[in-house]
Amino acid sequence: MSEIKRVYFFGGKTAEGNGSMKNLLGGKGANLAEMCSLGMPVPAGFTITTETCVEYYKNNMQYPANLKEEVEASLKNVESIMGMKYGDAENPLLLSSRSGARSSMPGMMETVLNIGLCSDTIQGLIKKTGNPRFVYDAYRRLIMMYSDVVMEKAEGVDPKEGKGIRVQLDHILHQVKEKKGYKSDTDLSTEDLIELCDAFKVRVIEVLGNPFPDNALEQLWGSIGAVLKSWNGKRAISYRRIENIPDEWGTAVTVQAMVFGNMGDNSATGVAFSRNPATGENKFYGEWLVNAQGEDVVAGIRTPNPLNEATKNNQNKSLPSLEIAMPVIYKELDAIQKGLEDHFTDMQDIEFTIQNGKLWMLQCRVGKRTGLAALNMAMDMLHKGRIDEKTAVMRVAPVQLDELLHPILDPKSESKANVIAKGLPAGPGGSVGRIVFTAEAAVAAAERKEKVILIREETNPEDVEGMRAADGLLTARGGMTSHAALVARGWGKCCIVGCDNLNINLKAKTIIIKGKTYKEGDIFSLNGSKGLVYDSAIETMDASENPRFVEYMSIVDKYRVLGVRTNADTPEDALNAINFGAEGIGLFRIEHMFYGINSEQPLAKLRKVILSKSLEERMTALTELEPFIKQTVKGTMKVMNGKPVTFRLLDPPLHEFVPQSDEKRIELAKELNISLEDIRTRGESLHEINPMMGHRGVRLGITYPEITETQFRAIFEATAELMQEGFEPQPELMIPVTISVKELDNQKVICDRVHAQVEKKFGIKISYLYGTMIEIPRAALLADEMAQTAQFFSFGTNDLTQMTYGFSRDDIGGFMNDYLNNKIIPFDPFQSLDQSTVGKLIEMGIKGGRNTNSKLKIGICGEHGGDPASVEFCHKAGMNYVSCSPFRVPIARLAAAQAAIKEYK
Ligand code: ADP
Ligand code: MG
Ligand code: MG
Repeated sequence: MSEIKRVYFFGGKTAEGNGSMKNLLGGKGANLAEMCSLGMPVPAGFTITTETCVEYYKNNMQYPANLKEEVEASLKNVESIMGMKYGDAENPLLLSSRSGARSSMPGMMETVLNIGLCSDTIQGLIKKTGNPRFVYDAYRRLIMMYSDVVMEKAEGVDPKEGKGIRVQLDHILHQVKEKKGYKSDTDLSTEDLIELCDAFKVRVIEVLGNPFPDNALEQLWGSIGAVLKSWNGKRAISYRRIENIPDEWGTAVTVQAMVFGNMGDNSATGVAFSRNPATGENKFYGEWLVNAQGEDVVAGIRTPNPLNEATKNNQNKSLPSLEIAMPVIYKELDAIQKGLEDHFTDMQDIEFTIQNGKLWMLQCRVGKRTGLAALNMAMDMLHKGRIDEKTAVMRVAPVQLDELLHPILDPKSESKANVIAKGLPAGPGGSVGRIVFTAEAAVAAAERKEKVILIREETNPEDVEGMRAADGLLTARGGMTSHAALVARGWGKCCIVGCDNLNINLKAKTIIIKGKTYKEGDIFSLNGSKGLVYDSAIETMDASENPRFVEYMSIVDKYRVLGVRTNADTPEDALNAINFGAEGIGLFRIEHMFYGINSEQPLAKLRKVILSKSLEERMTALTELEPFIKQTVKGTMKVMNGKPVTFRLLDPPLHEFVPQSDEKRIELAKELNISLEDIRTRGESLHEINPMMGHRGVRLGITYPEITETQFRAIFEATAELMQEGFEPQPELMIPVTISVKELDNQKVICDRVHAQVEKKFGIKISYLYGTMIEIPRAALLADEMAQTAQFFSFGTNDLTQMTYGFSRDDIGGFMNDYLNNKIIPFDPFQSLDQSTVGKLIEMGIKGGRNTNSKLKIGICGEHGGDPASVEFCHKAGMNYVSCSPFRVPIARLAAAQAAIKEYK
């Protein structure tokens, strides 16, 4: 025996492994061992470790030297417990060879059943069971699975679509059934099955060039090898990419004595959940088939029966339940599922088989579930005292809360619909409505209380009103952090961006997708969580009206250390965010008042400011603009009463506000009393080659101190007025796109002067904080200096990522997918914070800032503030708060609580 143990036995009521050994034995192997030790009826077997799989791949697909002896020793144990012998002519044992990774990859790897049937053993088994039909049923299944999994897939044969061996054998099976007029596989007679097995074997040689092996040991090792190789099968590899499962883990192989659900009407097989995985309802729920083998239930060959009377539905209400058909076994199974749920204190997904009236357990694992089910189960188990609060908090994945906050497409209805296009899933949830192509049409429809989906090439600020009015958004261009996506998520709107096979004809108000033309008014459905577009009306469902959600979130907050604020610029959004639990506003963008609803007047004033030629002209325009700023600022601070609001001074490049239409230009020319030509040339002079790195943010304030002054005055006066009205405003003034403390000092002079003036005017003391966004690497590098003047930092991680990568976030649509597919970068850094680079800058910034001022308040206000992994990073980095769009506030709260719980575990 080698010093490394590679094979772990289980059987009877004992096991060498246990449930905690998932890394070594895979989830399936570890839990089979655990069930054995719990005294549950499990067919004996053994598990070859995941480490062996890793060795196997390192050794160029050779088995380690001592594996054979270890397998033989364990097989002897299995034989003695089951009272049968593998490959024996009189009393043959049959085996299954099953895959199992550390974390479950359902259906992604291979399994071979009924191994050990060959000329030597078939007659013996027939004699022993007196059931030739069963034996040949098992045999035809073995030939099909083995030739598919071992002889084709594991050998790397890549057949043409529809030419694989399994499809071909399936075809033969269908032909026989058709010829004889059978409906179900169970109608096949012994003679039919014998003929079928012969036909299968002939076809295997024709297609694969080799005979199906007629030797039990060859079958065993062939199956073990094939399961090991299925770790690198196509499905397994793609699933690992999506789920972020490392390629290095490897699969375990569990070899187990077969039990048979296909021995007749007293035999059956099934799959069940200890609770309903879609809703969380505490009812044993599942499906079963009489006279069948495992695969049949999931493969959908026959419509499965309901497990019990209580969970019958419209589709299966006339089918027999196990509860009625086999009441004694049902009781035993019910007790086992309760026992398993108690033992693991979580919902279980189980597989079982009934052989001649005896129940056998074949698998158990923690079941996958929807967000709604996760919440309901956690609360139910908490109330029953089965789990503690911390465990309940950890039971719901933050992203699952999304499902609870947005209406979603009904998965049943969606599965029947036809996907016509795919884009980036920018705003989660579902949307169904008539398509429109302009913001005006969207607004008009909303006024008629009609649901519409706004389709645009890309969105720009002038579309905002239409975006707000639309139920869903679909754009041909843009990335996950494009304007449309950002705004959509902020409003909790369903949104798909970067959907590049949209051929939009604005004039004709039509869109061509894959050759088919759709016109305004046609109905589309969007799945914003998956980025799928449909050309039909799909039913939606709303999961948010769950009173348990509120209770759950109050428990979540007990464990949270990190503050959670929101990014909001209107009283409505602020109120919404407070309802979701926001503790302040981390980003109020002054420029928001110049977009969308009610922006006409202030925008006209701002345009005047921008196109003024002299200081005098500009001052006049600013005086006219100031009351509008004061009004918006005041409205939001009033709603946020007692909670901090961070106002970011005007940030975008000014040319964004220059009127594009001639009509607007003529209007403005009149008001400014200059020529249309003048308007044009002044507008053109603002044009920049690279506006994102141009004259924007604090740079505007340096050039035009009067613009800063107006904003400060509006904020301080709004604060003073609110105080006089009995409110408790807490303004925080934030300077954007800074690179030096000198910029902060420069603007602070203005701040101090205006502050003193307003205090004097109102005769009151106004407290506030003065700080900056850290969104350019230089500022992060000079954080110690920045903190000499700034009382708070807010990391603007959208720009910080953009500046660190040098990727324009509005233009990533063109190359991001290529970077991801070629594995040049592991993920989209605009979605999840790149902790190793952008994160490093943040950590440096925090360290530098707190060196200068240990009380420095620090937060984050980029889109990352609502991304769970990034929230965890912010917690660890020691920030005071994260700020995200209102709909992501609950997600950030949960992620923050989980980060804290993980840390103290
Ligand atoms: P997966 O991981 O894809 O679920 P499994 O290894 O669980 O694959 O095997 C699929 C099905 O095969 C099981 O659900 C079970 O019904 C059947 N099966 C596996 N091993 C045995 C066995 N030893 N006896 C009877 N049926 C088995
Ligand atoms: Mg299984
Ligand atoms: Mg910025």
